[in-house]
Amino acid sequence: MKPLLSVVIPIYNEEAGLAKLFARLYPALDALGYRYEIIFVNDGSRDASAAMLADQFRARPDVTRVVLFNGNYGQHMAILAGFHATRGEITVTLDADLQNPPEEIGKLVAKMQEGFDYVGSIRRDRQDSAFRTYASRAMNRLREKLTHIQMTDQGNMLRAYGRNVIDLINRCSEVNTFVPALAYMFARRPTEIIVEHEERSAGESKYSLYSLIRLNFDLITGFSLVPLQFFSIFGMGLSLVSAALFVILLVRRFLLGAEVEGVFTLFAIVFFMIGVVLFGIGIVGEYVGRIYQQVRGRPRYVIQAMLQDKTDHQVEVTDDSTVEV
Ligand code: UDP
Ligand code: MG
Repeated sequence: MKPLLSVVIPIYNEEAGLAKLFARLYPALDALGYRYEIIFVNDGSRDASAAMLADQFRARPDVTRVVLFNGNYGQHMAILAGFHATRGEITVTLDADLQNPPEEIGKLVAKMQEGFDYVGSIRRDRQDSAFRTYASRAMNRLREKLTHIQMTDQGNMLRAYGRNVIDLINRCSEVNTFVPALAYMFARRPTEIIVEHEERSAGESKYSLYSLIRLNFDLITGFSLVPLQFFSIFGMGLSLVSAALFVILLVRRFLLGAEVEGVFTLFAIVFFMIGVVLFGIGIVGEYVGRIYQQVRGRPRYVIQAMLQDKTDHQVEVTDDSTVEV
């Protein structure tokens, strides 16, 4: 029998908090009374996470399945691999660090049962550093302007997806992506609810400032061409202004003779423009690099092993870009 609810959790070096996660997640799901499955995806952890997941699988093989990657492919790839393994009508994603309270899953499921096929969530009182909170609010606003995706709180992964959305996502082979945005594009009836947020239960955030910037580039480049269009329009405007300036200087030269003053002002303007041009080339590079990764068509992730009950025959975790060992 298929479960109603599939819960997908990506895990990367979370040994310090896994015991607490299990202690809250299973009772919370048992209490809901639905048939459920939990799919943990170990994203190449270098600590004891994989061993702890294996133990947990042995403890609850009826509802636990574990996908083990052979290396670190990132949170969003882990979630996509988890999606391929899901069988439920409703899939919920959450983080392993208990920042998303498992007790909130019931609210998401209830909302889905009202007929929505995508339920996002907004953190009532975000428990992250002030810098993270403000930077992500600014990125949220920028994304709103550059894409058509409506998400109040883009960084929050506690979300529910309908089978139709998961099936469509499973057909995509994007290398650099942002799962909630992808899902939003496929959802027929999306909505959002407010949920609680807690501090990380143990360990540290797995995202450095650098990886956060990369992730936001994935989000913007993956769902918008506006940055490229901005530079072509800016370039067009600038060419017109330069052409006008050229005509003015030409006329002035014949009327008043050549001018050499204001050379440093000119330098300042030129340096500024070189900065803008480099930034523009960088943006083009962000897109070109992603196109390159995409056309190489390498497997997006490699599954080393999958732990699941022997009777789970119908499960196939293969997608075209996945190698199974
Ligand atoms: N994660 C992952 N692979 C990575 C980085 C993170 O699977 O390369 C997982 C991590 O174990 C956690 C979730 O993604 O379950 C969110 O990570 P984290 O809590 O560090 O991010 P933050 O809350 O700081 O945004
Ligand atoms: Mg976290």
